[in-house]
Amino acid sequence: MTIHPPPPAQTPPPPFHSLPASAVLAATDASPKGLDQAEAARRLAEHGPNLLPAPRRRNAVVRLLLQFHNVLIYVLIGSALVTAVLGHWIDTGVIVAVVIANAVIGFIQEGRAEQAMDAIRGMLAPRAAVLRDGRRRGVDTADLVPGDIVLIESGDRVPADLRLIAARGLRAEEAALTGESVPVDKGTAPVAASAPLGDRASMLFSGTLIAAGTGRGVVVATGTATQIGHISGMLAEVQELTTPLVQQMDSFARWLTLFILIVAGSLLVYGQFVGHLPFGEFFMAVVGLSVAAIPEGLPAVLTITLAVGVQAMARRHAIVRRLPAIETLGSVSVICSDKTGTLTRNEMMAASLAAGDALWTVTGNGYAPQGAVVVQEGHDSAALLADLGQAAALCNDATLHHTDGQWRVEGDPMEGALLALAEKIAGAGAMAGGTRLDAIPFDAAHRYMAVLHRDGAGRATIHVKGAPEAVLAICADQGTAAGGTAPLDARAWHARVERLAAEGQRVIALARCAAPADMTAIGPEDLAGRLTLIGLVGLIDPPRPEAIAAVADCHAAGIRVKMITGDHAATARAIGHQIGLKNSARVLTGADIHEMDDAELAEAAISTDIFARTSPAHKLRLVTALQSRGLTVAMTGDGVNDAPALKRADAGIAMGQKGSEAAKEAAELVLVDDNFASIAAAVREGRTVYDNIKKVISWTLPTNAGEAATIMVALFAGLSLPISAVQILWVNLITTVTLGLALAFEPSEPGTMRRPPRPRGQPLLSGMLVWHIVLVSVLFLVAVFGIYAYAIDRGHSQALAQTMAMNMIVVLEIFHLFFIRNIHGTSLTWTAARGTRVVWTCVLTVTAAQFAVTYLSPLQAMFGTSAVPLTEGLLIVGIGAVFFALIETEKQMRLALSRAANG
Ligand code: ADP
Ligand code: MG
Repeated sequence: MTIHPPPPAQTPPPPFHSLPASAVLAATDASPKGLDQAEAARRLAEHGPNLLPAPRRRNAVVRLLLQFHNVLIYVLIGSALVTAVLGHWIDTGVIVAVVIANAVIGFIQEGRAEQAMDAIRGMLAPRAAVLRDGRRRGVDTADLVPGDIVLIESGDRVPADLRLIAARGLRAEEAALTGESVPVDKGTAPVAASAPLGDRASMLFSGTLIAAGTGRGVVVATGTATQIGHISGMLAEVQELTTPLVQQMDSFARWLTLFILIVAGSLLVYGQFVGHLPFGEFFMAVVGLSVAAIPEGLPAVLTITLAVGVQAMARRHAIVRRLPAIETLGSVSVICSDKTGTLTRNEMMAASLAAGDALWTVTGNGYAPQGAVVVQEGHDSAALLADLGQAAALCNDATLHHTDGQWRVEGDPMEGALLALAEKIAGAGAMAGGTRLDAIPFDAAHRYMAVLHRDGAGRATIHVKGAPEAVLAICADQGTAAGGTAPLDARAWHARVERLAAEGQRVIALARCAAPADMTAIGPEDLAGRLTLIGLVGLIDPPRPEAIAAVADCHAAGIRVKMITGDHAATARAIGHQIGLKNSARVLTGADIHEMDDAELAEAAISTDIFARTSPAHKLRLVTALQSRGLTVAMTGDGVNDAPALKRADAGIAMGQKGSEAAKEAAELVLVDDNFASIAAAVREGRTVYDNIKKVISWTLPTNAGEAATIMVALFAGLSLPISAVQILWVNLITTVTLGLALAFEPSEPGTMRRPPRPRGQPLLSGMLVWHIVLVSVLFLVAVFGIYAYAIDRGHSQALAQTMAMNMIVVLEIFHLFFIRNIHGTSLTWTAARGTRVVWTCVLTVTAAQFAVTYLSPLQAMFGTSAVPLTEGLLIVGIGAVFFALIETEKQMRLALSRAANG
């Protein structure tokens, strides 16, 4: 709901974009310091959450009906009509019952898959930085209320409609709203009341993207009251649960269906006019053949395999934003990772200081602002320390909170560490430096941050902090222990930077200068050559132990890990060494990359694992270079400028915590915990999903082919069918879909991360798979005909012989399932035999169903079955075991050969 500015009821109130900022604050009953929590809660109750209605769902009835929308089902319904016309009521009944049961199974499975996707969408809830009780706080965007003051920076997705009250270099990309893809400039000045949406420069609109700059604005509309809320067509779409591979299988299944139907039709005509076979019986045989040959359960099981994979990744803190990434992740051969926060903890602490000729060490624990500063070398200087502390405190946007006995940072962890340092130097509350008038925000391209303050006495000062090279380049002189200045000795400073960085410390330079008293804004030109260097701060940020293990896992899995950082080369080298990168001796810097042409870069990028002082543009070139060598590249990123590289990478990975909304939207994958270990876990899951897709296919196709071959052979040889048409229906539409489902839930095989990555573009239907299909089909054929012939030979009835053949098929399917579970290793281990809960649930369900259809008299009447004696039952299981032994030894033979070939 929009709060309208108060004045007269007769004329419509002037719109917010045409009012001065102060009038908007008054109209929304807001203050530049933000609302207090209680008021925010009250307004939230009044206005409701800041959410757009969820995309509309297909309702359950439609979803259920859609289960029948399938060529095979149409054919079966047609067959039911034909059998009804022929008066074969039992067949009709069975077909209808099986079709309905199949639809219900599909409906339930699909529902589960959708639930999985929903749960994951909820995990990506966007957050916004607001002022509440005068302090900066991160809140869910759903909790924003009119009157909230929202802090905005480049890369953010605007969380509500905002009237700007402060803006610096702010540009917004409003294509979502206006169709205009070029970012537009934004400012605080009111614009004409009649200005069209695209020209309302004093407003930021919900759903648009901040391309550059920083600012703050007061929320004037939330939820459906926002401009984007007015456009109903803009609502997010529901993502289809599919990937290229699954689509290909889908389309394969469709063509196969058509092919089989043509064959079936021709057979029918042949039987009628050439073979002069009795129509009713022959018709059912052809229906049976169609059902046997068509892999009807395949697309559904594949979809579930994907959903299970997405869920498994989410449990490992990796949220898939674009499903095809699941497949790509499994084939990743190089991971380019950020350093700070991904390979390291991003829990910083100032450890050393350098100023004048002195070097100090700093003690303490985390962000707690208690600790000592102890001089190690040179002359201690209270003046320089005070200046360092002041610069650290003022050139800072973070805040420290003490909650639950722990100190936490709101904002950049490095700035949090600098705040703690400032308090260690000066004591709590001693850092008052006046009011901030302006700031140049940190940007990875210029690598410094500057602020302008005026104190109570009217003196204006500029403070700068940033990468030492960037800061030294704009300094004129340096502070001395006595409080004066001396000429800048840049060489000596660079040497000190190298020394701290070589210990893995992140080094920051601090500088200051006096500014004219009337100055109110700063730009880069106000800094160049005017600053006085105060000194250096070295911060430690230890590697994550789990990242070290994950890097080793990746190496074992044939994946090269590369670190790309904006940090100093020496720092990067030290951390790279601690993390265990392969080549931690050689470092390529952004400047080096700049010098190289594409061919040189491709060469260098392959062998180098550490890239330092890079900017986002270099990331894009690196991805391209690595891809040109045939590698499948995963790349992490967090800033707006990382978006092109993330898009270009085969698997773009954005940081969930420190990442900008722009980076998340460009990425395929979002890491909830920003942790490198989660990337390795996602790769493992990606490999597992791909394996499982392959397993589902390798299991389903031979099963179908074997059954179809059995019927074809019987038809052409003029033999009676070893398994009746309704039994085929039962086996395919009930048993097979239940068993196949187990494969969707398969956990990773033990050696998943010890295999090299799957080559890009490797076809799924490899020669190996085709061979497996042929082998298993033939074994099915032999076993089913064999048991049938044996039963007839023993003098059993046709019904019993068919029942035995049907159970033979199911037993073979179960043994085949246990075989397929371990295509990369042996199935003859205790773990393999023990299986998983899902496997045993599926197998026991199917076994129970088989007992029912074999021994319960109503079902016997429907399916024409007859009770199988115990000894014959044991024989069937025995044949299954022999089948298993055959295919397992055949696999071991192949594995041994390929091991021999690989040396
Ligand atoms: P990283 O890859 O380690 O995240 P960044 O691109 O964020 O590197 O930072 C590069 C360099 O810029 C850092 O080594 C540091 O010297 C400097 N820097 C980083 N953050 C800030 C900041 N908030 N203010 C000033 N300088 C910063
Ligand atoms: Mg950074």
